[in-house]
Amino acid sequence: MFEKILGQEKVKRIITSQIKSGKIAQAYMFIGIDGIGKRFTATEFAKIMNCSVNDFSKTDVGACEKCISCEKITKNVHPDIHFIGFSRQAELEKSNLEKQKILKIETIRYMQKKVSTRMYEGKWKFFIIEPAEKMNIAASNSLLKTLEEPPKNTVIILIARHKETIPRTIISRSQILFFQPLKVNEILNWLMSNYSIHDGTKIQDIVSLSEGSIGDAKKLADENKKIEPSLWFKFKTQSFYISDILEFSKDVVRQNAALECVNAMIYEAKKDFRIYPKMIAPAIELLITSKMLLLRNVNAQMVLDNLFFDLMDLMSFKYDR
Ligand SMILES: [Zn+2]
Repeated sequence: MFEKILGQEKVKRIITSQIKSGKIAQAYMFIGIDGIGKRFTATEFAKIMNCSVNDFSKTDVGACEKCISCEKITKNVHPDIHFIGFSRQAELEKSNLEKQKILKIETIRYMQKKVSTRMYEGKWKFFIIEPAEKMNIAASNSLLKTLEEPPKNTVIILIARHKETIPRTIISRSQILFFQPLKVNEILNWLMSNYSIHDGTKIQDIVSLSEGSIGDAKKLADENKKIEPSLWFKFKTQSFYISDILEFSKDVVRQNAALECVNAMIYEAKKDFRIYPKMIAPAIELLITSKMLLLRNVNAQMVLDNLFFDLMDLMSFKYDR
């Protein structure tokens, strides 16, 4: 169960054993930073409880993903699974999503109406409230009433970044499950299997900037696709044509940016040097020689043309390292 969710072994273990023993809590609180699978886990939980094919008291496999119930939950059209959050609130208020800053009592009341209606087609109703930490006092008090008289076959999952702003009365009626930031390896493996980023330095940057959040890693990787690869990267991956080089070299000189261009390449090359010292050392030597020539006011066009052609030669042998 929950194989699709990265990391979070402890959370998965707890929920799995509850599912198998039939001891489901009435309310849960999933706490942790954005982008680490809280909502995904809640959805998966709802799917498992409502799947019409697999019997989870007897087996360890996850939801079948094929039955009508699983399909409807995937498409977010299952009548018994409700996401209560800013988009629902905006819809109810007929206002913009961007304007939503707190979860209001009217939205919780809408949820309560759904709690009290009959089950449509599922076995379990799920209400997933997010961001629960943004409920105001009135909304929290209203929700408390539902938690005090929990309806049958209904699971309420509160998803929050932290529990500081959530009243203790609500916390004490929920099972708290902490979601951990993902490990470097988990982010790395996920990136490698979902993106084709060949630049090792970029990947390391994304991993460290994402700080354990798959959501952030995804955002960074998506942005990265739009970034024009650096000149150094183009040489390294041999994605340059000779005709482009001369044109590019002319452009750089026209912009009076030869030195900046060489400096930027030295900077990136040095980062790669740590990973492929033998392969990169001669390139760095070439770059530094060119920099010295530029500093001595040797004709910039000549220096760059020579540098680019030499680098191209050099990098075409890179796999001989
Ligand atoms: Zn199913």
